[in-house]
Amino acid sequence: RNNAEKFEFQAEVSRLMDIIINSLYSNKDIFLRELISNASDALDKIRFLSLTDKEVLGEGDTSKLDIQIKLDKEKKILSLRDRGIGMTKEDLIKNLGTIAKSGTSAFVEKMQSSGDLNLIGQFGVGFYSVYLVADYVEVISKHNDDKQYVWESKADGAFAISEDTWNEPLGRGTEIRLHLRDEAQEYLEESKLKELVKKYSEFINFPIYIWASREVDVEVPADEDESSDEEETPDSSSSEEGEDEDAEKSEDDDAEKKPKTKKVKETTYEWELLNDVKAIWLRSPKEVTDEEYTKFYHSLAKDFSDEKPLAWSHFTAEGDVEFKAVLFVPPKAPQDLYESYYNTNKANLKLYVRRVFISDEFDELLPKYLSFLKGLVDSDTLPLNVSREMLQAHSSLKTIKKKLIRKALDMIRKIAEEDPDESSGKDEKEVETSGDDDEKKGQYAKFWNEFGKSIKLGIIEDATNRNRLAKLLRFESTKSDGKLTSLDQYISRMKSGQKDIFYITGTSKEQLEKSPFLERLKKKNYEVIFFTDPVDEYLMQYLMDYEGKQFQNVSKEGLKMGKEKNKELKESFKELTKWWKTALSSDNVDEVKISNRLDNTPCVVVTSKYGWSANMERIMQSQTL
Ligand code: ADP
Ligand code: MG
Repeated sequence: RNNAEKFEFQAEVSRLMDIIINSLYSNKDIFLRELISNASDALDKIRFLSLTDKEVLGEGDTSKLDIQIKLDKEKKILSLRDRGIGMTKEDLIKNLGTIAKSGTSAFVEKMQSSGDLNLIGQFGVGFYSVYLVADYVEVISKHNDDKQYVWESKADGAFAISEDTWNEPLGRGTEIRLHLRDEAQEYLEESKLKELVKKYSEFINFPIYIWASREVDVEVPADEDESSDEEETPDSSSSEEGEDEDAEKSEDDDAEKKPKTKKVKETTYEWELLNDVKAIWLRSPKEVTDEEYTKFYHSLAKDFSDEKPLAWSHFTAEGDVEFKAVLFVPPKAPQDLYESYYNTNKANLKLYVRRVFISDEFDELLPKYLSFLKGLVDSDTLPLNVSREMLQAHSSLKTIKKKLIRKALDMIRKIAEEDPDESSGKDEKEVETSGDDDEKKGQYAKFWNEFGKSIKLGIIEDATNRNRLAKLLRFESTKSDGKLTSLDQYISRMKSGQKDIFYITGTSKEQLEKSPFLERLKKKNYEVIFFTDPVDEYLMQYLMDYEGKQFQNVSKEGLKMGKEKNKELKESFKELTKWWKTALSSDNVDEVKISNRLDNTPCVVVTSKYGWSANMERIMQSQTL
């Protein structure tokens, strides 16, 4: 085209497109859900703007917030149109030529090696999946602030942008035209498209229509020759048709004046709605099946790995602040969950106000340590027609957050209660058993492996819920027999007269088991918790007590096992301890004491109550290096 401006793709995009275009990846279907998800995002954006400015929606058809799919079998074009926010020329260059998210090159590498494109949507590059099925793509877009433009590319390292002077004006929004590759002609079949929309885009909150063909019978005068553009279907003499004609004839015999007519098949088109736009969270939890929750999770998290979420909670909060919410514990932690923990606030909850999507970047909805949860909140209390910033400061967000935390922790506790491997569940109150025991077996250990660290960070950061979080804590101990155990289980095994909960910190269980600090405790049959994660040292600075019991690090001063009578010993060794302390000098030791914590080892270095344990010294050293 003569008015086209040429651009080169960012190198990373080019690489990604090469991988996609040469991919032997078999599940090419995913492009459709990516396009529909983009259309839905664009519609969310214009709907959000319309809350404060009705004008943005425009008039007539332009104001209809829907998604339309059309198939052109002759030209081999599949097109998808939305009346969303659209893209300006600048948007087209930026959004469909560069990758915004960092860390994408890691994804590109991973995709190259694994060949698995399924997770593409999670990396902000879903659009490019169109090149799985098309060799030439046109994006026609009209944004309220700009003219209509066409973006086009054959995935040859470059794209072109032209002011659109030849297509029908869109009013507002975007139309994507995929010129399908020869081997992707199946995407011109209506039935295929319908199946895909059902499968992947069930939870899109805007109507999705397809320009569906239908064979209809039309009556034409029998004496006239059929007009040539009305094709007569070869099966017009089928039995059904024949019967119809018979019926017609007998009627005709009665009606004298009526001119003779005959029926022919004609193809007509109409928009057919493909999805049910009733949001899942508005339905009663009793009516929603496990399968529906699982599928909803997949679409929400853009996680199409087929794995079931570990748990979910769907509830309605009533009172001053009313909202509905669905929370999910994903089956797996993302690789970078703790890497980016302190740098980014990856909010994973979507906020809706009265069914209107507002944002998925609200940090106020959940504390950082619960950012691994996915889900959504739909509030009836928050005001609709204010800016994001004003909403962010709204007082009811605090209440929502508080309730969400409670529900989230309940949901996690239930994973443990329903898990037959967790015997602690036994003495709890009635446990709802929904579903198969086998399915619940080992789920809490799985949860703990993926997200245990988040619970520990929660204990450190969330004083209000510390006790609830401590209940969720799991660890190994001298008596846990290689399995995970809990504080409640520890307490149930405490010896009579034992006041404190004993623990020891270090790099590994194997190393700790040999520790001289445990000699006597083991001999006397006391249980000692092993804390082997570096974060545990910090954790234990915050977790002072549980159910009225203090925690005692057995490598620190103050260890007491039941009743002790070492007054005489202390007296008789007084001279030795005194000599020893001077020999070591007070720069090195605070005190030299008689101890009853040892069995075979003659002496041991103990940390003072508020001092750093040897393990903590090690951690601090490795951090400053
Ligand atoms: P993501 O959707 O994760 O941002 P994509 O590669 O799917 O990544 O899309 C890239 C960007 O292109 C989107 O963020 C959006 O800004 C823009 N975009 C894509 N499709 C549309 C559309 N139908 N309407 C408006 N903008 C779109
Ligand atoms: Mg997308």
